[in-house]
Amino acid sequence: MADRVRVRFAPSPTGEPHIGNIRTAIFDWLFARHLGGEFIIRVEDTDQSRKVEGSVELMLKSLKWLGIDWDEGPDIGGEYGPYYQSERLERYQEAADALLASGDAYRCFCSSERLSELRKQQQVDRAVVTGYDGKCSDVSNSDALDRVNAGESAVIRFRMPDDGVTEGNDEIHGKVSFENNLLDDFVIIKSDGFPTYHLASIVDDHLMEISHVTRTIEWLPSYPRHLQVYRAMGWEPPTFVHLPLVLATDRTKLAKRHGATSVLEFQEMGMLPSAMMNYLTLLGWSLDDKTEIFSSDELIKHFTLERVSKSDAVFDIEKLNWMNGVHIRDSSPEELADALSGYWSEYPTSEFPSPPDRDFALKVIPLVHARMKTLTDAAPLLPFFFQDRIGYEPEELVQKGMDSERTRIVLNAASEKLSTLDPFDTESIENLLRPLSKELDVKVGQLLGSLRVATTGLKVSPPIFETIEALGRDQTVKSIQDAIERL
Ligand code: GLU
Repeated sequence: MADRVRVRFAPSPTGEPHIGNIRTAIFDWLFARHLGGEFIIRVEDTDQSRKVEGSVELMLKSLKWLGIDWDEGPDIGGEYGPYYQSERLERYQEAADALLASGDAYRCFCSSERLSELRKQQQVDRAVVTGYDGKCSDVSNSDALDRVNAGESAVIRFRMPDDGVTEGNDEIHGKVSFENNLLDDFVIIKSDGFPTYHLASIVDDHLMEISHVTRTIEWLPSYPRHLQVYRAMGWEPPTFVHLPLVLATDRTKLAKRHGATSVLEFQEMGMLPSAMMNYLTLLGWSLDDKTEIFSSDELIKHFTLERVSKSDAVFDIEKLNWMNGVHIRDSSPEELADALSGYWSEYPTSEFPSPPDRDFALKVIPLVHARMKTLTDAAPLLPFFFQDRIGYEPEELVQKGMDSERTRIVLNAASEKLSTLDPFDTESIENLLRPLSKELDVKVGQLLGSLRVATTGLKVSPPIFETIEALGRDQTVKSIQDAIERL
């Protein structure tokens, strides 16, 4: 193992941040932070045709939201930059030139028509050895250069050994071995001059002194190719860690048709970042097969590659919802106020004319905390804070066993007492209203029922004493007076 732990997350900017990729980023980050190493973000944007504008920003935003920080990256730079592969093209060309010079690579002039014919024929023949047939592998370097100078289009291919095996040692799967004759000579530089992943990632992992490459198991078939490039370049390969996949409940790859797949969608659904981090970490890692709830600090403390599973993980939205509820319940009012005010400013809801601030969030948390499973649940419980005139039918003020006249008397008495109550807190409000109902000879439920409709317009509301405190004396008294007039 290298002296320093340096791991990179290497997203391709091809769309919204998929939770499968983010799970890899989380593993990278936890691993680096657990060992006091460095976490680097590198953007793999060499496939120009798949590039989607704005993806890098969304990716970084999602990582920040989850509480992930990085030591080097596209936005902050660093000693090993640039961190966009499209800005590092000359490094890949240098490596390709070295491989051409050593005979480990060659230029290939085969047309795409020839290659697709070849593929078709191999399918018809049910060929065991598939892929490129090595037609251009004998073209000498100087002939090839002449053809390139004459304007012929070429790619550069890496020359795989014809026989023998390539052996690797994966951190999770142990010893793995691959028959070389089954692996074709693959493209390392495309005809547009851009490198493929097979070259760019290796050059960068080497130059950036990456100690551990963590990527999903889908990349395992590329592992022997990459080891061969390391050998040909005379570079020591990093440690490879092939992570299990994140599948949907039908055990196919998690995709749009299964529902939300982007971290941003889960953010919009009102998930807490701590719950998301907790849940995604458990997709392929466990501490002891039974502990389920972890804070991010606890995850950093416990995360090791030894506990990463070999088998694929299944994403289950029900489980995430449950876990989110637990994280919300376990949050302090301050933490929840941060999350709620952040959520409201990111996703304004129709309940609020403009996003309420953190102070407001802190004030209303006692009203909603116990009833929330996601951050979206809070606003619909609180519309009455933002209405000048609360909407209800006057009859709704009149509780069972009461009439308008008695309701007016009861509300008047409550309004009078509340208008001078000091301090105006939950306990004093309760200590005032319970005895008042006795004094007025009505049931507590009748008094509180009328007050609830008068102050919130709702028949079922958050806890009424807390609600009255949060509304404050002025608004409460104003609403009760308004109710009396409406009766
Ligand atoms: N750009 C590759 C991807 O997004 C990265 C694979 C790797 O981490 O090496 O899948």
